[in-house]
Amino acid sequence: MISYRKASFLTSAAKLQQLPPDFGFEVAFAGRSNAGKSSVLNCLTGNSRLARTSKTPGRTQLINLFSLDDERRLVDLPGYGYAKVSRQIKQDWQATLSAYLEERECLKGLVLLMDIRHPLKEADQMLAQWCCAGVLPCHILLNKSDKLKRNAQLTALRQVKNAYKDFSELVSVQTFSATKGEGLKDLVDRLNSWYAESNPEQTPNNEQE
Ligand code: GDP
Repeated sequence: MISYRKASFLTSAAKLQQLPPDFGFEVAFAGRSNAGKSSVLNCLTGNSRLARTSKTPGRTQLINLFSLDDERRLVDLPGYGYAKVSRQIKQDWQATLSAYLEERECLKGLVLLMDIRHPLKEADQMLAQWCCAGVLPCHILLNKSDKLKRNAQLTALRQVKNAYKDFSELVSVQTFSATKGEGLKDLVDRLNSWYAESNPEQTPNNEQE
């Protein structure tokens, strides 16, 4: 049983070389700034301090890692989409994120957050496409579902599912409300399945390397 409530801050990394050793299981969370990533992490872990850690000035552009147990980590990737951020920072962000998604062996899946009222922005689509190209499972959370009536929620859900219908084995989509906790069970089920995948080639003390 994985206890998300036991998540605790592990470390921050500005570059991939600063990440902890590449073993075990990581699940990363990404999304445009303001889509509600901190609120979702807070809802999942019940720990508001954890999400605040990621929002500490100086840490917002970092990859922040939280451990669940000795082998499992939650990874909070920097929010994107700030219009004010310079072109250079955007390019650096893209390079770091694409390298993380492509190279990190212990990464088992990406939770991609979108505001249900404005899904599929350019950067969101870029991340989902990286996942599809790299055969990394991606779970899209259409957050802030409480802002829409049921019919409008279903329309958005259908629209996003349809956009990735050719990748339905890799890309899943659900509605979510961090404020109300709606959709939490589905999210936890998805995370549990990623964290439970066994990978016999990968052990912390792989003597053969
Ligand atoms: P982040 O920048 O992605 O970490 O976003 P935050 O978690 O800071 O949330 C941005 C704003 O959206 C805050 O005002 C939150 O209270 C609000 N918010 C986040 N999730 C929800 C949600 O599910 N429903 C509603 N109504 N507001 C939300």
